[in-house]
Amino acid sequence: EKNDIGWNLENSYAKLPGLFYTPLKLETVSAPKLVILNHLLAENLGLNAEALEGQAGINILAGQALPANAKPIAQAYAGHQFGYFTMLGDGRAMLIGEQITPAGERFDIQLKGSGRTPYSRSGDGKAALGPMLREYLISEAMHYLGIPTSRSLAVVTTGDPVYRENPLKGAVLTRVAASHLRVGTFEYAAQWGTTADVKVLADYTINRHFPLLQSEQNAYLGLLDEVIKAQAALIAKWQLVGFIHGVMNTDNVTISGETIDYGPCAFMDHYDPTTVFSSIDLQGRYAYRNQPNIGLWNLARLAETLIPLVNDNQEQALKLVEDSLRNFPSLYQADWLQGMRLKLGIANEEPEDERLIADLLGLMKEYQADYTNTFVDLTLERTLDKTQSSDLYESDAFKDWLNRWQARLERQEQTDNEIKQLMKQVNPVVIPRNYQVEIVLQAANEQDDFKPLQQLLTVLQSPYDYNALNQQYMTPPEPSSHPYKTYC
Ligand code: AMP
Ligand code: MG
Ligand code: MG
Repeated sequence: EKNDIGWNLENSYAKLPGLFYTPLKLETVSAPKLVILNHLLAENLGLNAEALEGQAGINILAGQALPANAKPIAQAYAGHQFGYFTMLGDGRAMLIGEQITPAGERFDIQLKGSGRTPYSRSGDGKAALGPMLREYLISEAMHYLGIPTSRSLAVVTTGDPVYRENPLKGAVLTRVAASHLRVGTFEYAAQWGTTADVKVLADYTINRHFPLLQSEQNAYLGLLDEVIKAQAALIAKWQLVGFIHGVMNTDNVTISGETIDYGPCAFMDHYDPTTVFSSIDLQGRYAYRNQPNIGLWNLARLAETLIPLVNDNQEQALKLVEDSLRNFPSLYQADWLQGMRLKLGIANEEPEDERLIADLLGLMKEYQADYTNTFVDLTLERTLDKTQSSDLYESDAFKDWLNRWQARLERQEQTDNEIKQLMKQVNPVVIPRNYQVEIVLQAANEQDDFKPLQQLLTVLQSPYDYNALNQQYMTPPEPSSHPYKTYC
């Protein structure tokens, strides 16, 4: 059944056994107001943006009214947070259903910040405007960078305060994802359900995300292999753009291979593999350079839950999942290396490529070169345009490296122009730089001025377009003695 907004909801997840979720009641908010709506995404979902902007649409986006066929639930899940296992679940999110798009695709429609749930623990179930706009901005930027991610459909303010250290404006983000199935969902089933529950969840996941596995001999091992592949590919993409997720707990690792949970994430400015932005990550567990290893650690937690399904002989099952996990480093490395080759305009493979790349990264680290801009400089005529003031370019070591790189490029067929086009497609000219994100969020949050945010969003919709407007956003931050910090 449809109405004029175009909602076309189903609830396949809510057909799972009851332990996987809790039905929710709606809460009312004081004065729901739409502050941003993603028109292009609405259209792709089959939703009418103008109708969504009306009061009936806003009431739904604020979580105080439901479209036809909605079934509001909080999903149950567990997770390893900084290495420690715990029960979690949607503590401030409500899944209202799955939108079936005109193209026949299925997307979770989830309201984040919609109030308390049985999984809220001591939390208030709410979200503040600043962090919800930040998630909107960065998740959309990731999408346009070509990185699998949850999307953001809208942010509404509620008119109610949210109390953190200070009273803040309350807000609800509408998050859209292929699903919110997590490694932590499987951990939850394995810990508090039966093997039959894990099987129901695995079958549901295979049917929803990997239907081709249904005809395979060992579909559950196949499921693990698919998630390993998807996460290896995802984390390689993060590394290639300098994205640091910040809180790679198993509850924030999707089975679909999408990036979710934009809390303390941030993009690296100058290249330093030890970069950590999150204020709570004191040990650097989720530092840039650790992301691939943590990815594997998280996949091992998924593998453990699948052992009972993989083979009746548990020893045999253990051996099989271990073999699968052992593929992760080479899958990741192949994706990353291929991506790095393209960033340098290299179209074929030579054994010394790894060395060439490692040496460049070593110099970038030594000279604290801006990660994004160094690749832009190499792209632009492959002469150095100086988008940053950097001692890197004056150093003899770098000049030697440039000569090696030029020689390498001459050993392939591509013309200079072809190489430049190749590089432009993979080296973004603009990323959501932390200081710029802060500026636009402050204008929106404190002055109700959404123009800078809208402009940054527009620019981030074409990150590989080397146009003049985009190049205005290339300026790296001023060197500062206070490193950028993020909070959950
Ligand atoms: P995260 O660190 O964002 O992955 O969140 C970890 C857990 O804390 C999840 O179960 C969230 O639902 C929950 N959570 C985060 N913020 C709140 C909040 N304000 N109220 C209730 N639960 C929350
Ligand atoms: Mg989370
Ligand atoms: Mg979060």
